[in-house]
Amino acid sequence: KTGTLTENRMTVTVIDVAGHYLELTGTAHPAPALDDHHQAPIRLAEQPPAIGLALAGGALCNDASLQPDPQTGRYGVIGDPTEGALLVAALQAGVRRSALMALAPRVGELPFDSERKRMTTVHRVDPNDLPEPLLGLKACGLRPDEQYVAFTKGAVDGMIDISRAIWVGGEPQPLDDVWRERLRAANEQMADKGMRVLGVGVQWIDTPQEELERDLTIVGLVGMIDPPRPEVKAAVATAKAAGIRPIMITGDHPLTARFIAYDLGITDNGRVKTGLMLDAMSDAELEQVVDEVSVYARVTPANKLEIVEMLQRKGHIVAMTGDGVNDSPALKRADIGVAMGITGTDVSKEASDMVLLDDNFATIVAAVEEGRVIYDNIRRFVKFSIAGNVGKVLVMLVAPLLLGSEAAVALLPLQLLWLNLLTDGLLGLGLGVEPAERNTMRRPPRDPQAGIFSEGLGGHVLWVGAVIGIVALFAGWIYYDPANPADKTWQTMIFTTLAFLQVGQALASRSSRESFFSLGLRTNLTLLGLAVLVLALQLLVLYAPFLEQFFGIVPLAPRDLLIAAGLGTIAFIAIEIEKWIMRRRAR
Ligand code: ADP
Ligand code: MG
Repeated sequence: KTGTLTENRMTVTVIDVAGHYLELTGTAHPAPALDDHHQAPIRLAEQPPAIGLALAGGALCNDASLQPDPQTGRYGVIGDPTEGALLVAALQAGVRRSALMALAPRVGELPFDSERKRMTTVHRVDPNDLPEPLLGLKACGLRPDEQYVAFTKGAVDGMIDISRAIWVGGEPQPLDDVWRERLRAANEQMADKGMRVLGVGVQWIDTPQEELERDLTIVGLVGMIDPPRPEVKAAVATAKAAGIRPIMITGDHPLTARFIAYDLGITDNGRVKTGLMLDAMSDAELEQVVDEVSVYARVTPANKLEIVEMLQRKGHIVAMTGDGVNDSPALKRADIGVAMGITGTDVSKEASDMVLLDDNFATIVAAVEEGRVIYDNIRRFVKFSIAGNVGKVLVMLVAPLLLGSEAAVALLPLQLLWLNLLTDGLLGLGLGVEPAERNTMRRPPRDPQAGIFSEGLGGHVLWVGAVIGIVALFAGWIYYDPANPADKTWQTMIFTTLAFLQVGQALASRSSRESFFSLGLRTNLTLLGLAVLVLALQLLVLYAPFLEQFFGIVPLAPRDLLIAAGLGTIAFIAIEIEKWIMRRRAR
């Protein structure tokens, strides 16, 4: 959605009425905060009446409001940013919506929808007592007995189709092909500069029940800009590097859409398809188009659904943003429906999996990274934990075979529990807070079908488990004395070597590719602190007199402790070698 890419701080920069082109330099971005004492920079009396009428029409056909900030006394927009921009522009000419609404109350409306791309409101007026900005209505043929007038604003291309006249130099002229062409050209010229262009039209009606949005008289065009958010360009590049293709699907004019898409790097071929083109396409054509085209403009909600479905049929996972009620089917259909938090309707939020609180595309990309980090950390923990436990199971099963039936129990239940508390508990916790790996956003998305043991995780678990088991058994084997089976040193050696092994394993498992030494210690101080704590606790168990009995072990002589520590480094070294081989192969 355009709204996720731009600041949603629409600012009117141009009002184009036939024969007069007014640039609102005073409203250049960022929108000036207007306070109550400002001098209107535009003097309506010096402008053609159509300017006043375009501004008043834009302000009346409007559901937004300007609210003064209680602290600064300056105005902020409440409601749709497009409509807020029109209110700010009107205020530049001293036209206040509230004052205008008092003299021309709204008695009917056709709300905006993204299908028609326009909105209409009906107002009761007193032809003999018109507010200044509406004085033009009289010149335009409002009869003294007419009491109702409707204002329509919306996409210019659609407005041309429902209009019969254009207001030129103070009087309506028939909207012939020449004028239609001129309007289209003016519209495109503005859109090509990235502006959103709205047409403003009036309709004379006798009763409020009359059919709306037909035989309009076009008053003028209003062009507004909405600058791209500064962070989005980088976010688009990040998304692309991460194997995610941003696609722009917008109700805006194709040229406006293309301008923004180019600017942000969403397209480099400049190809744009409109909703009408999509409607005329066969499935086979669309199948080709969704691969090549990243910008879709003037689309209807039905087109959005069509695009989502085609992308899914081609095996893509699709996230889609939407705000309107009509977006619900596409939001539901998408793998991840993302509703706009600020401008989104409640219905669209209900239909979504995720609500984007700040309406910012860059936040979606940040969420992807966060999600990848979480998934990586789950894998990291599972890998660490299962490999460690494979090692312990191996020790328990093989020790009696290796050492004979007197050595039936290599680790007492309490020792096993203690080890699990230290490793799966404390060290696992430390691995779970590992920050993003360097390549998190430089690799393609994972295959959703692939299980957790994919990409070598299963093999890693088995061989690391084997190394841990064998080294711990070896420690027990060299200390086991068949002549003196009551001596528990061999058990204590297994117990302590396992603790050392798993501290090393945890440190080496921080990344599945990068070497421990290139990661830097400070990037996961939690794990480092926990590793120190684990070692300290293990020493406490070994040397605190009352605990030693409780755990059924003997204090190790310093030389034995050193041997256990030395054997304990083997898991670390082995995993680092595995990663080194993987890095070499990748190169
Ligand atoms: P997007 O899909 O980018 O949100 P919208 O559906 O909001 O686009 O807008 C599509 C077109 O509808 C705009 O280009 C504009 O011409 C018109 N439009 C947008 N907002 C309004 C509005 N509040 N009133 C009238 N017309 C509008
Ligand atoms: Mg919109």
